[in-house]
Amino acid sequence: MNQIMERKLTVALDAVKTASQLVKRIQNEIVLNAIDKEDHSPVTVADFASQAVISHILQESLGELCLVGEENSVNLKRDPEKTALTQITQYVNSVFPDTNADTVCDWIDYGNADPANTYWTVDPIDGTKGFLRGDQYAVALAYVEEGQVKIGVLGCPNLSNAATPDKTGQGSLVFAVRNEGCYFLPLDLPMDLDQKKQIYVSSNESFKECSLLRSFETGHTDADKINQIAANLGMTNDPIRMDSQAKYALLAGGKGEIILRLLSPKRPDYKEKIWDQAAGAIILEEAGGKITDLNGTPLDFTQGRTLVKNTGVLATNGLVHDKIVKALISSN
Ligand code: AMP
Ligand code: MG
Repeated sequence: MNQIMERKLTVALDAVKTASQLVKRIQNEIVLNAIDKEDHSPVTVADFASQAVISHILQESLGELCLVGEENSVNLKRDPEKTALTQITQYVNSVFPDTNADTVCDWIDYGNADPANTYWTVDPIDGTKGFLRGDQYAVALAYVEEGQVKIGVLGCPNLSNAATPDKTGQGSLVFAVRNEGCYFLPLDLPMDLDQKKQIYVSSNESFKECSLLRSFETGHTDADKINQIAANLGMTNDPIRMDSQAKYALLAGGKGEIILRLLSPKRPDYKEKIWDQAAGAIILEEAGGKITDLNGTPLDFTQGRTLVKNTGVLATNGLVHDKIVKALISSN
């Protein structure tokens, strides 16, 4: 790997690891203790703290860059009580002492760039619904150069060995650099790249043995149609419901063969966000898998904040990809 890429990877790993450990603490300290599960403020605190920390680490270590993040501080500043901002600042302070609220907002908003030809994109907490439930979520960061995803890092605090849901385990840091393979490290140990383990997609070709992963949230997809397509293909395993790009980590490690993001009938015009797909896409590809939209078209990360040229997502171990594209096209 060339030195420039290696430097970017090291910084990206540090940023995602630091943010993942912070949001895991927030999940343990305030989310799981929240009496009113309809109260969404804990996720706000974690989301913004994560984006602030990642944005600051990238900028400090790599200098000026283009960062496209999901969050901005407009609503935080608008709240007269500034309750969330105070809490966010406290958590950011536990990592970077003596940072004031204004600086935290500046860090968050450093991630408000429009995607250029070359950019970083961050989802500070992907799978916020899973985060609130205490299930899977991921901190997702990707580097896109000249329209091609070159680096992807997923921090998955509730996943062990990039494969097994585990709320009390070490968590996983899953990462890939273009043409360099896909690897994971434990999230809770000091960073040592010599300890990284390479992962590969499964070699199952028979639909009878295949497992399909889909969004936990029914509103993010079309569960009935997924069941129907799976049955038509001869799949017998029940679909695995899981939040966030943790699904891509599982697929990259051979724990399943297919991820299907069909459009929800309630949101037929929904366009995927770049930060919801970029890190997961390269992680899967570097593990040997394939990712396209539902028509078999490659994902196009050059179109701004959303994948406007694409419809839904199909991600597989590669071996079953074309058959599923055919089945999807003929089901329309
Ligand atoms: P998942 O955990 O697979 O449900 O994916 C989580 C991501 O789905 C979130 O980060 C949202 O950006 C995205 N999302 C929100 N609404 C929709 C929708 N209607 N269809 C597809 N994805 C959505
Ligand atoms: Mg997301």
